[in-house]
Amino acid sequence: MTNIHYDLIAIGGGSGGLSVAERAAAYGKRCAVVERGRLGGTCVNVGCVPKKVMWYGTSLAHALHEARDYGFEVEQKGFSWNDLVLKREAYIGGINGWYHTYLEDSGIDELAGHARFVDAHTLEIDDRRYTADHIVVSTGGRPAVPDIEGAELGITSDGFFELTEQPRNVAVVGAGYIAVELAGLLHGLGSQVSMYLRREHFLRSFDAMLRESLMEQMLEDGVNIFPRTQVQQVVRAEDGTLSLVCDQGMRTDGFDCVIWAIGRDPNTDDIGLDRAGVIRDGHGFVPVDGFQNTNVAGIYALGDITGRAPLTPVAIAAGRRLADRLFGGKPERRLDYENIPSVVFSHPPIGTVGLTEDEARELHGEGVKIYQTRFTPMYHALTERKVKTAMKLVTVGAREKVVGCHIIGPGADEMLQGFAVAIRMGATKQDLDDTVALHPTSAEELVTMR
Ligand SMILES: Cc1cc2nc3c(=O)[nH]c(=O)nc-3n(C[C@H](O)[C@H](O)[C@H](O)COP(=O)(O)OP(=O)(O)OC[C@H]3O[C@@H](n4cnc5c(N)ncnc54)[C@H](O)[C@@H]3O)c2cc1C
Repeated sequence: MTNIHYDLIAIGGGSGGLSVAERAAAYGKRCAVVERGRLGGTCVNVGCVPKKVMWYGTSLAHALHEARDYGFEVEQKGFSWNDLVLKREAYIGGINGWYHTYLEDSGIDELAGHARFVDAHTLEIDDRRYTADHIVVSTGGRPAVPDIEGAELGITSDGFFELTEQPRNVAVVGAGYIAVELAGLLHGLGSQVSMYLRREHFLRSFDAMLRESLMEQMLEDGVNIFPRTQVQQVVRAEDGTLSLVCDQGMRTDGFDCVIWAIGRDPNTDDIGLDRAGVIRDGHGFVPVDGFQNTNVAGIYALGDITGRAPLTPVAIAAGRRLADRLFGGKPERRLDYENIPSVVFSHPPIGTVGLTEDEARELHGEGVKIYQTRFTPMYHALTERKVKTAMKLVTVGAREKVVGCHIIGPGADEMLQGFAVAIRMGATKQDLDDTVALHPTSAEELVTMR
């Protein structure tokens, strides 16, 4: 058995692992990426990318319904879930293939298999061993399934992307952004959807205006939402359908699909971290300092397994900065986890960055001033189905520094990026007011709010 030695090995060929290896290789370092599944990780295969394709499908479904409001005579003859899934998977297959070529062209070795630590500088992949000066753990996460009777009758977001037929009547259990997105896209494509929330609201960490506006819209569109409902059991009926048995004697029958979207667990339990001496917290996440260092010198953690801002661009940015620091002569380079923008691909979408109003008030008390607006965007002036846009700027201090920007409405996903730059640069309300508006757009409201 021969040991190949690398400057850097990344465990996990997802957003974090690929980006750190790519940047390290650009500095001329000898690198490898270990991947046990498909290159691209969660985002490409069972996350952002397939989800966004489905979101586009749902957006088109809404547009088809609204076309008649703009004078088109449209006869919708049907929708093939399977055709959309086949095209989506072909697209993803292309991305997987592109990554193989890209790694090869970049001189990065692709090591297929499941990696486990032997010691702090040695990995075992099947029966082969590899050593490295620097090992980056970026093994991502997997969807959680509740520990209740009948849980195996449900699927997770991974299973959702395997569906080759559209479910007719779906229960989505969970309150995070993935639950909201799957519920919205299924409903828009014609499934009957019921959401089960353990507490009063979904998107609890988001600004209240966002979650309240979205809930209002989803209820208006016909999504059933059961707040404060704990699912206790799933039962298969004789006709093959599924029933949810909940607390307080509530039971709902007739589902052909139950989706668990109750959170994600880190993939850190089967990689031999103990043998390398790397500490995990009580939930299995790997604690890191501001430079992605674990408690063991030469071992770093990136992306979802750190439990901080589990988003693709965060894993990518952290990976690139880590390689800059290790090999690029930039010893202070690290990711600033403040003001990370994010989008929820609901219908309508949400774009959000910075402090929520509640967070700002807790931190700055009386020094907080809020600007907000709510209106029907021009597109929906003509449509029967009305969708509202709501926007909020959270400012603090006498200079009214903008510390939060929250948008829900058509186009919010594309609108936010530029405002995230401004906020990162310390923009004040006056800076926004001094910016000439783009007209007629929804975004112009953000620079004209009183
Ligand atoms: C349904 C869904 C929708 C999402 N939508 C968005 C979105 O719109 N925008 C956004 O920014 N983020 C989104 N995310 C989150 C995003 O996918 C993750 O934040 C991102 O993929 C994290 O990257 P990572 O490198 O940490 O892990 P991953 O991308 O999960 O990559 C980890 C890789 O490690 C591999 N692996 C694990 N253990 C081993 C081992 N021992 N040996 C070898 N390989 C191993 C896995 O197979 C996997 O490929 C979504 C996630 C989900 C589930």
